[in-house]
Amino acid sequence: MSSSLLLTNATVIDGTGTAAQPHSSVLVRGAAIESVGTTPHIDGDTEIVDLGGRTLLPGFFDCHVHFAFGPDTGVLGPTHDDPVLAMLASIRRIEDTLAAGVTTVRDLCGLPVGYRTAIESGRINGPRLQVALKALSHTGGHGDGHHCGVNTTAHMSELVDTVDETRLATRRLIRDGADVIKVCASGGMSSAYDDPDDEGLTEAEMSAVLDEARRHRGLPVAAHAQGERGILAALRSGVTSLEHGYAITDEGCDLALENGTILVPTLRTALHPPNRNTMPEKKYQKKLRWLDIARQNIARAIERGVTIAVGTDAGICSHGGNLEELGLLVELGMKPMDAIVAGTRTSAELLRLGSEVGTIEPGKIADLIVVDGDPTTDIGVLADNTRIQAVMTTGRWRKNELGPTHLDSAALPGAIASL
Ligand SMILES: [Zn+2]
Repeated sequence: MSSSLLLTNATVIDGTGTAAQPHSSVLVRGAAIESVGTTPHIDGDTEIVDLGGRTLLPGFFDCHVHFAFGPDTGVLGPTHDDPVLAMLASIRRIEDTLAAGVTTVRDLCGLPVGYRTAIESGRINGPRLQVALKALSHTGGHGDGHHCGVNTTAHMSELVDTVDETRLATRRLIRDGADVIKVCASGGMSSAYDDPDDEGLTEAEMSAVLDEARRHRGLPVAAHAQGERGILAALRSGVTSLEHGYAITDEGCDLALENGTILVPTLRTALHPPNRNTMPEKKYQKKLRWLDIARQNIARAIERGVTIAVGTDAGICSHGGNLEELGLLVELGMKPMDAIVAGTRTSAELLRLGSEVGTIEPGKIADLIVVDGDPTTDIGVLADNTRIQAVMTTGRWRKNELGPTHLDSAALPGAIASL
């Protein structure tokens, strides 16, 4: 197999916000992008693929995923299922997500570190992966899954109730290989005795997490924060990202803008209308109310120019089809190109990967997707897995449904001339 690949006749959306560039070519050598735009000098070993005008984008990010479970298993699936079957189900979710055009994922609790190693070492195909391992929650808080005296969520959370316990638990997560520390700054939607308006870790506890993160490579801190008070406490303590942020107010937007905090709104989970037949009436009404709260406040945050990265909370919502999130951001007022930047460059920056991936530029790692359609005029094409025709990570195709596209060298001069 040749070690360099020329993708010709591509419409390149490079992830920087620059307008789409039709009739472009991108040269990939080994794992990296060598040149973009003009026809480069190529040698006889270069494989040439004519993209026929299809759109070439950076691989997308989903900054909020839970591969350990799905809507079919619920968050407690991993505790009930045969561990082998649970592992196979997680691998399936990882593959589905990659096939949906997502080449980098941040798993925000529940997934053991071994999956990251498995992908990095090529044992399984998947998006490059960062893991939080377990979320930090207080006793009785969002991450406390005790039910009739049994801790049902030990696989995904650690309970901490003082500044010292919080600091120690952060150190344990760092020791175990966490790429990001997740804190529960508010209650949530899912459990019976927990409400988004409830407060989570105290500001002092979150500040201790931030300090430990700073002492260890400046690891990012992601705060689950849905209600207003939890959002403000998280923002005041200086977290890197606000996850969900449904009740963010103007005061919250100001703080986020001031501190450079990134909002990950997880609309794919928030905005799907709940099913009245599958939940108790009280929970159904709660979901409806919070759907409205999320819609209004996230639209306002977009209007105010808060920096947004893409995350879906897949696990609560389905895995695969993650890029539907971009359509929901557009529905709430974002321009399609801005949604694309949110899902590529901005998300890469949030994950501290901005110098490696997230844009199509010389020197970046070749994480690329080929889309049949123009997402700047119809953002919905990104949500359709059949339109995500090819996915590449580190210079290798992981999905390729392009059909016959190879040019033999005899066709080369004509192909180049038509660029
Ligand atoms: Zn989540």
